Amino acid sequence: LKVTVSEIDIPCAFGPAYEGERVRGKDLHSQMGGGKTQCTELVKSADMKEIEDGKVTVVGKDIPDLKEGDTLPLGIFVQIAGREFQEDFEPILERQTHHLVNYIQGVMHIGQRDISWVRVSKAAVEKGFTLKDIGVVLHAKLHQDFGKILDKVQVTLYTDKKDVDKLTETARAEYKRRDERVDKMTDDDVETYYSCTLCQSFAPNHVCTVSPERTGLCGAYNWMDCKASFEINPTGPNQPIQKGECLDPVLGQWKGVNDFVYKTSRGAVEKYNLYSMVHDPMTTCGCCECIAATLPGLNGVMTVGRDYTGDTPCGMKFTTLAGVMGGGAVSPGFVGHSKYNITQGKFIKGDGGLLRMVWMPKMLKEEIKERIEARGKAMGVPDLYDKIADETIGTTEEEIRPWLEEKGHPALSMDPLM
Ligand code: SF4
Ligand code: ZN
Repeated sequence: LKVTVSEIDIPCAFGPAYEGERVRGKDLHSQMGGGKTQCTELVKSADMKEIEDGKVTVVGKDIPDLKEGDTLPLGIFVQIAGREFQEDFEPILERQTHHLVNYIQGVMHIGQRDISWVRVSKAAVEKGFTLKDIGVVLHAKLHQDFGKILDKVQVTLYTDKKDVDKLTETARAEYKRRDERVDKMTDDDVETYYSCTLCQSFAPNHVCTVSPERTGLCGAYNWMDCKASFEINPTGPNQPIQKGECLDPVLGQWKGVNDFVYKTSRGAVEKYNLYSMVHDPMTTCGCCECIAATLPGLNGVMTVGRDYTGDTPCGMKFTTLAGVMGGGAVSPGFVGHSKYNITQGKFIKGDGGLLRMVWMPKMLKEEIKERIEARGKAMGVPDLYDKIADETIGTTEEEIRPWLEEKGHPALSMDPLM
């Protein structure tokens, strides 16, 4: 029996019509995540006997326990069982959380993985919305859209800090394992990349091209994930792209990619490069994990993650950067990318690669420390990590320049960036 949308038993209206809707400050009742508290989502396969289909549990406080302006940590844990279900499908189902929660009228979802953000409006609360409804929606819609590959969906929503922290730890190990599935692959190994157009409801012209060495800018989809997604849903948002003739091996431009992007952006984007942020970079949508910006005065680049709210040497905070370029336009000098992509082999390779990186927020730098060290070593600068400035050194070009000079940062002596 197929579950249909009208049968979703929640007190709010539900459907794609509400997807682009915002919950602004004056309408806000309460929120989870978004840098204020931890908000994590994880989809994990389970044994058939281990879970109960349709069981939705909230462990801890729910909306009725909150007053206006409150925040809560939130862990959304979805367990899936099915004879056809494979671990490889977990990231694809997890990424559905974004649009499915956005389908609820008066509820907004931003981000993914362990940097999610849920904003609940007063109007939704007046109608009787509770966090449990997120689980009800996920159960119904995952059955409806992925019924072919799953039999059971159980959802647990945690709102106690200790439970959320525990889930986050588990989730981070899963994200790491998923990311590493493409670790040994290179773009040269494959003739086929994959598109992702899942974000076109927010950024209508945006098309991610996901290659082994360029994971989706949200960080939630890599090449393997897109491949699995295409297998599940051959007419879905992840289509194979034959690379075709290579037009520029340094900047990373292929005829097949251009043709696909031109068609899928409805003519808005003619071409883009996979390995450059200076020359015709890939488009960016609002859910990127990080945004890189050129720092012409330092002959280098910086990048900032969504979870860092302070000032940066490009003069803009993350939110401003995301507002300027998150709509799906090509913005030379800027590019959205995943955290993992920073240390992938082709990261802005056409602009000099990771050796251009002169500034990152301390938390991001530390999070990927080992990988920066490995990449620096591979690029002939084993102490690159120690040469990248952060906010403790400064947040303007002027403040960090003397420090970079003292450390002998490689970017200072590279060819001009522009
Ligand atoms: Fe897909 Fe890109 Fe959106 Fe991620 S950011 S969901 S890869 S379109
Ligand atoms: Zn997006």
